[in-house]
Amino acid sequence: MSTDLDGVHRTVVVVGGGQAGLSTSYCLNLAGIDHVVLERDRPGGEWRNRRWDSFCLVTPNWQCQLPGFPYRGSDPDGFMVRDEIVRYLEDYVKSFDCPLVEGVTAVRLRRREGGGFRVSTTHGELTADHVVLATGPYQVPLKPRIAERVPADVVQLHSSEYRNPDALPPGEVLVVGTGQSGCQIAEDLHLAGRQVHLAVGSAPRVARSYRGRDVVAWLEDMGYYRRGIDEFEDADAVRLRANHYVTGREGGRDIDLRAFARDGMRLYGRLTDIRDGLARFAPDLTKNLDHADAVSEGIKDSIDAHILARGVDAPAEARYVPVWTPGTEPSEVDLSGITSVVWSTGFGRDHRWIDVPVFDGRGYPTHERGVTSCPGLYFIGLPWQHTWGSGRFCGVADDARHLVSHIASERRSGIANGVPWIAGTPEDTFPSDEYWTATRTVA
Ligand SMILES: Cc1cc2nc3c(=O)[nH]c(=O)nc-3n(C[C@H](O)[C@H](O)[C@H](O)COP(=O)(O)OP(=O)(O)OC[C@H]3O[C@@H](n4cnc5c(N)ncnc54)[C@H](O)[C@@H]3O)c2cc1C
Repeated sequence: MSTDLDGVHRTVVVVGGGQAGLSTSYCLNLAGIDHVVLERDRPGGEWRNRRWDSFCLVTPNWQCQLPGFPYRGSDPDGFMVRDEIVRYLEDYVKSFDCPLVEGVTAVRLRRREGGGFRVSTTHGELTADHVVLATGPYQVPLKPRIAERVPADVVQLHSSEYRNPDALPPGEVLVVGTGQSGCQIAEDLHLAGRQVHLAVGSAPRVARSYRGRDVVAWLEDMGYYRRGIDEFEDADAVRLRANHYVTGREGGRDIDLRAFARDGMRLYGRLTDIRDGLARFAPDLTKNLDHADAVSEGIKDSIDAHILARGVDAPAEARYVPVWTPGTEPSEVDLSGITSVVWSTGFGRDHRWIDVPVFDGRGYPTHERGVTSCPGLYFIGLPWQHTWGSGRFCGVADDARHLVSHIASERRSGIANGVPWIAGTPEDTFPSDEYWTATRTVA
């Protein structure tokens, strides 16, 4: 497709060609709704450009359930490494007639007088009746402003810039944050023989397997991944929760920070300040490690209850026993031996280019299952948009299907964003529930 987009009109413009945008495109195709997908880079760019060399999924491959393209490889219980994930997305694009335009950034979104939207891009301005924003859950690398006080000779990277231990200068490394990225990067450095100092936050952990199966398989059976956000008392808090840490590396295993400490990694509480060449930490290491273990053991309790209630035949398994405890908590470390800091402190979103009043006071889009209060404007791929899987490979298909059904029914009803719609277009052929159930069967 030509990249001169000036004056082009599409029924739907999808912004973002990651798994969420591509899934939406697949469903729009099935519904016969004309559209275009704008991608500033290439599909898979987030995985290709912002993940480290040893990166792999923490969710098993069988959970990769993009619509029409479930994982079909030979290792459903394994965990795709970075380049395999990129290939999975590239193959997805090739698997259907995706009207994808690469190398185009949407720079402004406005409502159009009389209905619909104007999408200004680096390659001209196009118009659309509907816009689906699939620009990703993790857009802007976040670093605390403490970073400004790190001595100038210490190399600083965000987790999205970290590649491998050899790319850091020789010497000790301070990793800040123990979400998925921080724990896995700390492990990567630790396995390479680097002295790691790890500032441990309050993220929970989950065991890789329990009573003979991957914990993800148990939780899937227990319906955890299908629980809607509306079932939780405090949706906002659920959406802000840190992910549980665990790894898919080398076939998958627990991440046990206590075991790392036993083997020489230095653990601290939350980083609170950097001043006078010292990094200072809160006295919460014991609490954070205990909390992570308690969450993990609590998940095992719920699996035990499920096994009991269903009479499942599963082997018994002894519970976790801490292999190390902090003793006196170190409150500071001298930065003179530390040559690099890896900030694993998460990501934010940048929606400033979206000139439509659908955001709350914190800049979070107000929506119901991706459908905003502005008719015709949708989000997809937000963490916990509807379920745990919304921002992941396992749940985005359901959300794409929901949004496209919504778009199709809006058009069938003859009112799409205030624009009268001419009846009799192929949306009537939108696939049945049976179709979707069939395509979601694990390969
Ligand atoms: C460290 C890490 C580990 C993860 N591990 C897992 C895992 O094990 N399993 C799992 O299921 N999920 C995992 N995820 C979550 C999720 O699957 C990924 O974040 C995934 O990339 C989300 O897909 P997406 O399509 O919503 O967004 P993205 O992949 O971020 O895609 C958004 C796309 O939009 C494009 N874009 C953005 N703005 C514009 C614009 N203005 N104009 C044009 N294009 C634009 C970007 O270039 C990008 O290609 C992980 C995430 C992270 C950060």
